[in-house]
Amino acid sequence: MRDARYDILFDSVAIGPLKAKNRFYQVPHCNGGGYRDPSAAATMRGIKAEGGWGVIFTEQTEMHHTSEITPFIELRLWEDQDIPALRRMSEKMKTHGALAGIQLAYSGINGPNFYTKEVPLAPTALPIRTFTNDPVQARAMDKTDIRNLRRWFVNAAKRSRLAGFDIICLYGAHGFGIFQHFLSRATNQRRDEYGGSLENRSRFAREVVADMREAVGGSMALTMRVSLDESIGALGFSNAELRDFIAMNSELPDCWDLAQGSWDECSGPSRFKEEAAQEALVKGIKALTSRPVVGVGRFTSPDVMVRMVRQGTLDFIGAARPSIADPFIPQKIEQGRIEDIRECIGCNMCITGDMTMSISRCTQNPTFMEEWRKGWHPERMNTKGPSKSVLIVGSGPAGLEAGRALSLRGYDVAIAEARKDIGGRVARERLLPGLSAWGRVVDYRQYQLGQRNNVQIYPESRLDAAAILEFGFEHVVIATGSTWRRDGVARQHVVPPPMDGAMPLFTPDDIMEGRLPSGKVVVYDDDHYYMGGVIAELLARKGCDVTLLTPAAFVSDWTRNTLEQGAIHRRLADCGVKIILNRGLTAVRSGSVESNCSYTGALSEFTCDAVVMVAARVSEDGLYHALKAREPDWRDAGIKSVSLIGDAAAPGPIAWATYAGHRYARELDEPDKGDALSFRREVTELAPDEA
Ligand code: ADP
Ligand code: SF4
Repeated sequence: MRDARYDILFDSVAIGPLKAKNRFYQVPHCNGGGYRDPSAAATMRGIKAEGGWGVIFTEQTEMHHTSEITPFIELRLWEDQDIPALRRMSEKMKTHGALAGIQLAYSGINGPNFYTKEVPLAPTALPIRTFTNDPVQARAMDKTDIRNLRRWFVNAAKRSRLAGFDIICLYGAHGFGIFQHFLSRATNQRRDEYGGSLENRSRFAREVVADMREAVGGSMALTMRVSLDESIGALGFSNAELRDFIAMNSELPDCWDLAQGSWDECSGPSRFKEEAAQEALVKGIKALTSRPVVGVGRFTSPDVMVRMVRQGTLDFIGAARPSIADPFIPQKIEQGRIEDIRECIGCNMCITGDMTMSISRCTQNPTFMEEWRKGWHPERMNTKGPSKSVLIVGSGPAGLEAGRALSLRGYDVAIAEARKDIGGRVARERLLPGLSAWGRVVDYRQYQLGQRNNVQIYPESRLDAAAILEFGFEHVVIATGSTWRRDGVARQHVVPPPMDGAMPLFTPDDIMEGRLPSGKVVVYDDDHYYMGGVIAELLARKGCDVTLLTPAAFVSDWTRNTLEQGAIHRRLADCGVKIILNRGLTAVRSGSVESNCSYTGALSEFTCDAVVMVAARVSEDGLYHALKAREPDWRDAGIKSVSLIGDAAAPGPIAWATYAGHRYARELDEPDKGDALSFRREVTELAPDEA
């Protein structure tokens, strides 16, 4: 039963003419599926309904074809034929009494219109502001354009109602929505009644809300998502201006939805942002309005949620990532199962699905976006097959997730781990600067496994093929992970570059084991995700004189997809790390490294006392191959299968490992699909060929 402390989270709260059943509010979030995978996205939202959320939103929905953000894949509501896909989503959202919300976005200065080839429209003519510096500019809207846009909002509102939604969110946050573009003096430099004073800059928002109330207001609620602080310099829409805006228009929407200025500020990873990081920016805003206020802050702790409500900071607990990592947070709090909450680790891997236009994944919840594609439910496993026992070798994220999911299915599971600590790479990486929250990958699974009587964990048990053949488990899973390469092979070098043995050389594994260089250190990063930057930060904090050398144009290049590249560069600069971009490493000599320009090949020399190689990783698959070599002996040993998963199969991010572990557990004893796809996909129906 739920703890009375948390009762307040289950109060019903009015939004305009409607009532949310509780304070759990899934704010709009992308998923990389959008219009390309409508059923996958709809089913994902339906799972949140089952998990108990009171309000559930779509991702950003492009509401008119004159403004779209190709290549990013969100939802579209351009014409009536878009309604059925959206209706499928709203119906799933409403299955357990949640209110279904749609976020309407007109992207204005943020929409390059690559697909529709329309000229972008914005309050002021400026270059399009996206992640990729697109060579496209927007035309300034004239009065006719503004009248048209107001009508398009009304049309979209009517279509939203037809699609079955209860709430419309007008998007004006993160730099992505036209309402912010009008409000901000940076993007609105108009001299007419829509520009200049804050009152004038608010005019467009007031007009659209009035139009929409007239069109759909009786039955639908309207919320407005605005930036807490645009943080783009003096002209940006500041927190002080936001407060003035809300005070001036306090009853404008039925609910104020507050989100920090840019997306990377709002969805900052745990390396840079704590839970409730936006508290200071939100505090006191509720006093300016009688309308409820929703805010976000990667809330996973029910105590923090209660504090937000009790202190009068928020009425609704907004959540995107926490609802991805655990769609059942509300139900778990309701049922008094706090320890079962699978807390978001703030790694932002989910966001990379959007940034890479693929489909999202979650490090903590491998079922995310597989609810429809694979029929995976985050809380329920498929029924057990005929086998009984599974031995998992390795307790990293792959092994632990396989063990957790297999035990839920009802198999007897043993996990053998060579080291004293379980958790594999996560046990070590969680100790690196800024990555402590990643430890939740292990903590959650360790606790869950501890609750089950069909799982045994054996630390300090390094297994070899002979031992495994003696044990007699029916299925053996090799999840033995990977190690960082010492020889410099990655992308620049597919065979090792020349290296003088006199130079002290370190890998991330050495650093994580506590073997540290000193003096002048070159960190060579040809991995390009977080590790090179984290190691450089750690060594700089330990007093080394650090130079980070990378052939890429950005430090920790791939973290542009996790919205932290700018924060990483800033932090390294603050720590005194010298960042040298567009330069590779051609040789390690005694006392220096030779480096080449990525473009011209021009060589130069950097003197140093030590080198840290952040290159590729190599799979620890020796045990697997030793077992394969003894395949004729399996039958006598009672072994039916030996599988290789996670980093031991092919090194990747932690999310790949939890996915691999989960997939193994789902597929054990299931019929082999042969050459068929392992997931369902949705293929667009062909329109008539009217050439
Ligand atoms: P993944 O990311 O695929 O889960 P990790 O590298 O995080 O992989 O974890 C692999 C784990 O396997 C490590 O903790 C390692 O100590 C353990 N391990 C490797 N070889 C053996 C072995 N022969 N017997 C038992 N455990 C092993
Ligand atoms: Fe949280 Fe990472 Fe999952 Fe995103 S991918 S929801 S940040 S755990």
